Amino acid sequence: MDPGRIANLFVPSRCPVCRQGVDPDSLLCGECMRELNRSRVLRADPPEGVDRITSFADHEGIPRHLLAAFKFRHLTGLVGLIAGFMTDAAGLPDEHGLLVPVPPARLRTRMRGFDPVGLLADEISALIDLPRPGEAVLRRRGSGRQRGRGRTGRLANPPDIRPSDDAGRIIGGREILLVDDVMTTGATLSTAAGALRHAGAASVVALTFTRRL
Ligand SMILES: [Zn+2]
Repeated sequence: MDPGRIANLFVPSRCPVCRQGVDPDSLLCGECMRELNRSRVLRADPPEGVDRITSFADHEGIPRHLLAAFKFRHLTGLVGLIAGFMTDAAGLPDEHGLLVPVPPARLRTRMRGFDPVGLLADEISALIDLPRPGEAVLRRRGSGRQRGRGRTGRLANPPDIRPSDDAGRIIGGREILLVDDVMTTGATLSTAAGALRHAGAASVVALTFTRRL
């Protein structure tokens, strides 16, 4: 018997969002799934430098709790579910496009032990058959402490994101699908889009799971 099944004998499976008991074969309970399927996709007002944006849901309620379970409780098994909702909302990509995730702050990745946006990007890339370059095209410096700064502080201190040396060769003339987990003020997406344009991207379309309104 595999270790997962042994664990199930002792720990009843719980929905990671609402903690109700669930069937061991389901990731979430039926109620949370129904609520997610009712989410209103947001497409208005892309941040500066971004041509279009799609966010699967408002950063509240069940979508927000689901994202937190994935990011902060390291429930990496939720990546396929979250990426699936994002790609359903996004529609089909440009066939010559490339997928680029917003790069994580190194310190934060080290503390967390994984890069949630990178994992989402790999999953989305496979789901919609849009390649993700093997080399990083964006570099990020600094601690990346955007969280907890407040809206004004975040807008005044955007993260330091720049194109890598090879970015022009890789992304020049292409449409980029820029992926992040959540849009808060738009400062991060704007900075990343500016770096992509600087490297010659033809257009930048953003995709996030949630958006704080
Ligand atoms: Zn639930």
